[in-house]
Amino acid sequence: MGELTTSIQYLSGVGPKRAELLRRELGIETLSDLIHLYPFRYIDRSGVTPIAQIAPDLASVQLQATVVSRTLYGPNSAVVSQETDPIHWGAVKRLSVIVQDASGQMEMVFFKGIRWNFQRLVPGATFLFFGKPQAFGTRLNIVHPEVDVPQEGALSQGALTGVYPSTEKLKTGGITGKVMCRLQQAALALCLPEVEETLPEYVLRDRGLVSLPYALKNIHFPKDSYSLQKATYRLKFEELFFLQLSLLKQKYVRSRGERGLLMPKVGPDFHACYNALPYALTGAQQRVIKEIRGDLTSGHQMNRLLQGDVGSGKTMVAVLSCLIAIGNGFQTCIMAPTEVLAQQHYANIQKYLKPTSVRCALLTGSTPQKERRAIHAALEDGSLGILVGTHALLEDNVVFHNLGLAVIDEQHRFGVDQRARLWAKGPLVEGAPAPQNFASLIPPTAAQRVPPIYEAMGGHGFGEQDSFDQNRIPPHILVMTATPIPRTLAMTLYGDLDVSVIDEMPPGRKPVQTMCIGQNRRAAMYKFMREEIARGRQVFVVYPLIFESEKMDLQNLEQGYEDIVKAFPLPDYKVAIVHGQQTNDEKNFNMSAFVAGRANILVSTTVIEVGVDVPNASVMVIESAQRFGLSQLHQLRGRVGRGAEKSYCILVKDVKTSKEAQQRLDLMCATEDGFEIAEQDMKMRGPGDLEGTQQSGLPISLNIASLAKDGQLLSEARAYAGKVLDADPELAAPQNAPLVRELRKGKYEIKDYSKIS
Ligand code: ADP
Ligand code: MG
Repeated sequence: MGELTTSIQYLSGVGPKRAELLRRELGIETLSDLIHLYPFRYIDRSGVTPIAQIAPDLASVQLQATVVSRTLYGPNSAVVSQETDPIHWGAVKRLSVIVQDASGQMEMVFFKGIRWNFQRLVPGATFLFFGKPQAFGTRLNIVHPEVDVPQEGALSQGALTGVYPSTEKLKTGGITGKVMCRLQQAALALCLPEVEETLPEYVLRDRGLVSLPYALKNIHFPKDSYSLQKATYRLKFEELFFLQLSLLKQKYVRSRGERGLLMPKVGPDFHACYNALPYALTGAQQRVIKEIRGDLTSGHQMNRLLQGDVGSGKTMVAVLSCLIAIGNGFQTCIMAPTEVLAQQHYANIQKYLKPTSVRCALLTGSTPQKERRAIHAALEDGSLGILVGTHALLEDNVVFHNLGLAVIDEQHRFGVDQRARLWAKGPLVEGAPAPQNFASLIPPTAAQRVPPIYEAMGGHGFGEQDSFDQNRIPPHILVMTATPIPRTLAMTLYGDLDVSVIDEMPPGRKPVQTMCIGQNRRAAMYKFMREEIARGRQVFVVYPLIFESEKMDLQNLEQGYEDIVKAFPLPDYKVAIVHGQQTNDEKNFNMSAFVAGRANILVSTTVIEVGVDVPNASVMVIESAQRFGLSQLHQLRGRVGRGAEKSYCILVKDVKTSKEAQQRLDLMCATEDGFEIAEQDMKMRGPGDLEGTQQSGLPISLNIASLAKDGQLLSEARAYAGKVLDADPELAAPQNAPLVRELRKGKYEIKDYSKIS
């Protein structure tokens, strides 16, 4: 009994020293931890490719070969040692190992783990090598192959052998792949009889899943590839199902608990605005507005995330939603992360509101006292329909008569606690005392308290949900973001929010033609730039500022500026430059010269990423493009293609461009779809590493399923979890007891939402 929780130390073949190693390197403390460490790959021992048949750019191959010779190289490929000389390890940069089988020879290359590999790959010894072959000149090699000792008999059996995550320390500590297999075998023998099924009988039946003990046995030691497939499917489904069940359960609890303001009407202002629009809404905009209307008439509080690329028309959706709320007698607010963006919104929104009778005001940190007082008054007497602003909206003295809808733009720049403060500005329940002001109504500590959804989001030092003011109904919340998040990730990170997507651009946008060039085509690029400038267009030239040394980046930028000025001399051309080291006055001066069309070319760092709108700019040149991440490239490209002219994005790469970087550049040339790019970005980098979304370090870690690769299964698991909750929202039925037990373990709770706020 109790084997699952037994310390790994007591497993035969482990002991205190190896136990410490397993804990440190893999976080394994108990037998249960061990058997939940799954192989990440399986070697089909029957599948060995003869060297003569290996071609470069094949997928990974396995070969069995004997070491012929080894050479250690220093910098500049100078030979450091060939077996006989004493070795100065410090000078060694690369290990080359020539191996052969009956059909031929090839090279294995190591830049890391040189010493360890040198010591074990002795001439005459035979190994299994696994990796991706590549051509190096006329020779074929594999860089950093996985190396295994062939196991006797295994080859002839054609069995699938698991390969476990490992580290060099583990290997040198004696926990090789073979030892790991033995440990797993021993642990499974002890634990399997104790493993409890985590899924109810009916779920297994519905989904055609194998039992947990069967899955565990076969994930480690698959009988055949069919059993492995069944085991993998079961374990992945289980993981995604519990994740979604946990998220959806929060959502169910909330939506039943939270009273939502009812907004059944549409109202004359909506119609006035709608009918005066100079264009038809896109299909995506119409769909999203329908989804929002559905929320506003549901009787539950809306918590919706609206995703849409820059320029997809989110503002329009926000305004129309506000007008619905206003049509039902409520007030609304739209919050932007910066003063500039708030002003821009305000200006746009006023245009949309012209045909209506709705009053709109702007409130930011720099709004003068007098205006502020007028705004406060108009808010409190209910005559102000839309308040646009920055986080100044959150201040305690901003008191709404009856706030019905809050729109938050650029969601990822606001903290969770700030969103929570909007909740607390909702109207009072009928019959409750009229609001005096916000601060006096809720004591300072309670004012910090948040409703359940935010409570679930890691607490942030807030108190219990039940001390949230019961007399207030939270406004509907619409969060808008232009940072495309892959669907599967959104489903997980915002699993308890509803997600709408505008996946269609307004018509008439000309695609931005994107190309990637090497340094050798710089002259041709300059010629092209001159042609565009001759046609009255303007050009952005962007340099990266992502280097370890800002000084070096600045040098790059200044060098680039000089090159450009040389190639585009006065008086025919005017070049402006903007970078982070300039004073605000300098920046503004240069920037406005470009915006006003006085400069033909703007050389800059990525400061132009946000905000600037120069419709006349038709060319975006990105220097050292290989150094940018995908989302940054996408944002930069979004700066052009805003006017009527055909636009171009030229990615200039350096000679040293890694394969991964080249993939990014290729993807940029292949698509303009922000979601596609985000999706691919996730596949290339892994979901824990998405830039721009501040999601580095996902708040949940999955053991076997992958958000990048198992999107389909994730959707199925989510739908199924929804079905289970529809039938039994409290999970109170006896047959669902295993689900409750599993959820209580807390494994599937998102712990740190601060990462995604
Ligand atoms: P976002 O906030 O999503 O970046 P905006 O709402 O600012 O995008 O819209 C970008 C531009 O597209 C604006 O000039 C807007 O007037 C215009 N626009 C919005 N919807 C449509 C549409 N359905 N058809 C044509 N133009 C549209
Ligand atoms: Mg916008």
